[in-house]
Amino acid sequence: MTPEFARHLAETLAEIEQQGLMKRERPIATPQGGHVEVDGREMLNLCANNYLGLADDPRLVAAAKASLDADGYGMASVRFICGTKPMHRELERALARFLGKEDAILFAACFDANGGLFEPLLGAEDAVISDALNHASIIDGVRLCKAQRYRYANSDMDDLEAQLKAARAAGARHILIATDGVFSMDGYLAKLPEITALAGRYDAMVMVDDCHATGFMGPQGRGTPHHHGVADKVDILTGTLGKALGGALGGYIAGPQAVVDLLRQRARPYLFSNSLPPAVVAAGLEALRIVEAGDALRARLFENAAYWRGGLQSLGFDLLPGEHPIVPVMLGDARLSQEMATRLYEHGVYVAGFFFPVVPKGTARIRTQMNAALSRADLDQALDAFGKAGRETGVLS
Ligand SMILES: *Cc1c(COP(=O)(O)O)cnc(C)c1O
Repeated sequence: MTPEFARHLAETLAEIEQQGLMKRERPIATPQGGHVEVDGREMLNLCANNYLGLADDPRLVAAAKASLDADGYGMASVRFICGTKPMHRELERALARFLGKEDAILFAACFDANGGLFEPLLGAEDAVISDALNHASIIDGVRLCKAQRYRYANSDMDDLEAQLKAARAAGARHILIATDGVFSMDGYLAKLPEITALAGRYDAMVMVDDCHATGFMGPQGRGTPHHHGVADKVDILTGTLGKALGGALGGYIAGPQAVVDLLRQRARPYLFSNSLPPAVVAAGLEALRIVEAGDALRARLFENAAYWRGGLQSLGFDLLPGEHPIVPVMLGDARLSQEMATRLYEHGVYVAGFFFPVVPKGTARIRTQMNAALSRADLDQALDAFGKAGRETGVLS
């Protein structure tokens, strides 16, 4: 490394530190779950994407262990050379069936799925219209394709229509609207009924990244398109095995057969990156089985979310409205959100504060996430901690 480059790195890191944006990772000693041990202390965990509490589920652990014994550890190949086992196709077919699509294709992560989706499907004659709050992986994926790019303000349907008109006026051949199914900083759902209606009117297609919904939103947890009753109007779905579906890793794209077939030939993160390990695929299949029969888990999750939301409201906190298990506690000031997170940590509750540039200035918050692994007693304990931290920081009087 040249001295100039070393200086450049040191300066950049110092700048991050000085702006108070340095992210520090706290090692968790226990399996991921409702209760975790951090810094030698037991904490309630309100910041995992472990919506159904499956991350430490013994059935998933057993499925992964059995697969390690039966199938070995790694595939040491991409899918098309010698990295495909019957279970890979089985999981793809199971995901497609679950989501109501013709087929699905696995990736190492949803970040890769979104990174590989756009470039093979769309060319310079085409247009992608993207919600301004879409996940970083959609933004990057769109950057990698040659299509004309349009952006609309978050969930602003007038703006979406204006962008559709602009793309049509510019002579776009194919138009794809891309949106998160759930915007994870707010827990707001994308307005899929309006989006799909507009798509119909302007002859556009719709892609939904349903990472924060698959497994628990909508009937049988089939996601936001089913939740809104517009599943047949959403062309392409992307998602992850890294959140509600067990929390390990793995991503997928589900959609029409021809889309999946072409991605299998052309999607670069699929062609040039390793096959998912068998243990992850086996546990993924087990997770999907549990999720398909998981009405009790989903009921528990939404009961917890309603109780949590009601409890925070009674304490006097300012919440964003919503139905999703993401419940953001609005604090406004960045420093206040950090102080609140620190106090909560001291009171045994693990949460994350979010502030600019992750969310707009003046809208700093603590994002809490409910899951099915938390008991009523856990929630009461967490509410007690929020009450104390709120009074200590002056958020509550
Ligand atoms: C978490 C998330 C991703 C990334 O998923 P990974 O499988 O962890 O790469 C992509 N999009 C959205 C909307 C997400 O929430």
